[in-house]
Amino acid sequence: MSEHHVSTDCLHAGYRPGNGEPRNIPIVQSTTFRYETGEAMGALFDLEAAGYFYTRLQNPTNDQVAAKICALEGGTAAMLTSSGQAANFYAIFNLASCGDHIVSSSAIYGGTYNLFAVTMRRMGIDFTFVDPDCTDEELSAAFQPNTKAVFGETLANPALTVLDIERFAKAAHAHDVPLILDNTFPTPVNCRPFEWGCDIVTHSTTKYMDGHANAVGGAIVDSGKFNWNACADKFPGLTTPDGSYHGVTYTERFGLGGAFITKATVQLMRDLGSIPAPMNAYLLNVGLETLPLRMARHCANGQAVAERLAEHPKVAWVRYPGLEGDQYHDLAQKYLPDGTCGVISFGVKGGREAAGKFMAGLELCSIATHVADAKTCVLHPASTTHRQMNDAELQAAGVSADLVRLSVGIEDLRDIWADVEKALAGV
Ligand code: PLP
Repeated sequence: MSEHHVSTDCLHAGYRPGNGEPRNIPIVQSTTFRYETGEAMGALFDLEAAGYFYTRLQNPTNDQVAAKICALEGGTAAMLTSSGQAANFYAIFNLASCGDHIVSSSAIYGGTYNLFAVTMRRMGIDFTFVDPDCTDEELSAAFQPNTKAVFGETLANPALTVLDIERFAKAAHAHDVPLILDNTFPTPVNCRPFEWGCDIVTHSTTKYMDGHANAVGGAIVDSGKFNWNACADKFPGLTTPDGSYHGVTYTERFGLGGAFITKATVQLMRDLGSIPAPMNAYLLNVGLETLPLRMARHCANGQAVAERLAEHPKVAWVRYPGLEGDQYHDLAQKYLPDGTCGVISFGVKGGREAAGKFMAGLELCSIATHVADAKTCVLHPASTTHRQMNDAELQAAGVSADLVRLSVGIEDLRDIWADVEKALAGV
């Protein structure tokens, strides 16, 4: 566990150069690594010695950046993946196989919903989607004997629902399974889900962590707190010998702190290979260094724009948990007291057509399939990221047909608002 605060860890965690070594994390742009004897390399394959042999499994640049994100979340082990999609896929697939079941919040990113509801269902893993505001009884009723995890987003994209982490963790633990949370929008600067009972955190680092639209990427962090051995029958992949990896039993060899990430690395990354390029990990690290500064500015700009939108006569509704009166304001005060993020969802009076007109009238703010970026951007999820969903699924995900997602950047607030105000005037 790091002794420093998040802003310090954003600069220093994960890599400490020795005497005369590079100040920045070096980019180890090599697919492979040289050894002097076959025995030395064999020990690596047997997981008896730590070291690198092939970048499809692990690379020093990636690992140093993963170690930084691990420190930021307060975890025991972490890995980078090539995208946020890969992170969420690996986090679930590391626990669930064909015939298993997952309970997931319905208010999640459209791409994750599709991954679960279509692609992973085709692999034989079933999902029950629950409203994040369901009652305790409804949540409990969603579990089955073959349930292997509960999944949600701390602050959902784009519905901006704040998940009651403690309530979901309690339900997951009562059924002997871990809570996995996608913490992309708040980042560990604004919320550290492990402190509220969450067991595993995932990220699309493509968003605020990178922050400059430089590199697609993902991360998984384990808290090391979930006791796989206490319900060993549920998690044979972690608690019994892995025939595909020399009979290693991950919990025995790597303890509760290392079992989950080691298995995901040596088994899933080995077989599926969604590793980030070391160059992308380097770019992510550059972004992480300024994350706390950017998050503070995103939150201040987001709050101000949300307040102004809420008073604007052409705006039908605004969803921003930082707004007093927002449905999730109380949960945000509890879990995100320093700010939520820069993303605002709102509806322009006149529905889908008016939303289109508003977006076309923007000049500084770009229409982009992106969010959580230094530059302000805007998107209409119902016709883009969530277009595969039918009306009922859209409603469950908290995405109405008129919803505009405005990702407020770190430009001067006066310029952002001038652009938004001009575009609204043109509706
Ligand atoms: N999780 C959340 C909350 C997201 O917003 C996104 C993408 O927008 C993803 C996961 C997927 O991440 P990526 O685009 O890096 O694959």
